[in-house]
Amino acid sequence: MCCTLAECFNGWIKEERFMSVTAMLYHIRRKMMKMFDDCCRECLSWRSELCPLMESIYRAKVDVARFFRVVISNEVEFEVEDVIVHYVNVERKSCSCHCRYWQIDGFPCVHAVASIISSGGSLYSFINLAFAVSSFSQSYSQSIHPIANIEMPENCDIMPPDVSRGPERPKKKRIESTGASWRRIH
Ligand SMILES: [Zn+2]
Repeated sequence: MCCTLAECFNGWIKEERFMSVTAMLYHIRRKMMKMFDDCCRECLSWRSELCPLMESIYRAKVDVARFFRVVISNEVEFEVEDVIVHYVNVERKSCSCHCRYWQIDGFPCVHAVASIISSGGSLYSFINLAFAVSSFSQSYSQSIHPIANIEMPENCDIMPPDVSRGPERPKKKRIESTGASWRRIH
């Protein structure tokens, strides 16, 4: 997981990571300042409860779940007839399909979606709040304020130490993992 996050970040600072330390920090700060503003503006046009990608996943699941027959046992337990019959417990966030999507990603599987709809509950209240437009908006609500560089000394570059590459040091040009490319999650 950490490796993937590091690769994502490295992909995001492809040009900056070869700069001196001070120049790299300066450019990353500016990049983040712009990203915060872009995200803040972007979500103003979203009219859905969830961020666009998650809203489309939500709608696709509801479309599939409509064809399942659900038998309600009580307010938390359900039997859902797919190809086979599944047991859903919405209190435990569990389903016998064992996809574990609900526990891992915070988004109910199609059987749980069918159960919640059948019981008349609000599906949004069973989805992780992290996917909500309100959470996204709140995350980017604070600005990174501009800084004038007029008072910065001219020669303040800190370069990495000049070391020769040993025989067992990894290659400079690494093969990037799939996480290195920028992937939207909202
Ligand atoms: Zn399931």
